[in-house]
Amino acid sequence: MPTLFERIISGEIPSDRVYEDEVCVAFRDIAPQAPVHVLVVPRKPVPALDGGLDAALAGHLLMVASKVAQQEGLMKGYRVVINCGRDGGQTVDHLHIHVLGGRSLTWPPG
Ligand code: AMP
Repeated sequence: MPTLFERIISGEIPSDRVYEDEVCVAFRDIAPQAPVHVLVVPRKPVPALDGGLDAALAGHLLMVASKVAQQEGLMKGYRVVINCGRDGGQTVDHLHIHVLGGRSLTWPPG
């Protein structure tokens, strides 16, 4: 069964893409938690942060998260989040980085 994000990456499910390259795709979260809320998702369906991620892919995804933040004009700062596993709040079993910004974010998260 393809993951939800594989179906978005293939175009079967529409999304609002803000960036893509040969390794990953970035699109707006359907339920944004901040004025800017983008998900950076590898094309390869790595299930989670601790599920088959290699250093090159991890580095690439973080570089793209930074690029997306700049592209979205988040000059005053932003947050990068990876939820991992049930207690971490992960709901889609396909690794993704949340890029959140456009307002002052509180800490700690819930
Ligand atoms: P997580 O809870 O960390 O696994 O994040 C999954 C994210 O995917 C949530 O923030 C959802 O709002 C988002 N999401 C679910 N379905 C879609 C969709 N069709 N398009 C864009 N984002 C989605």
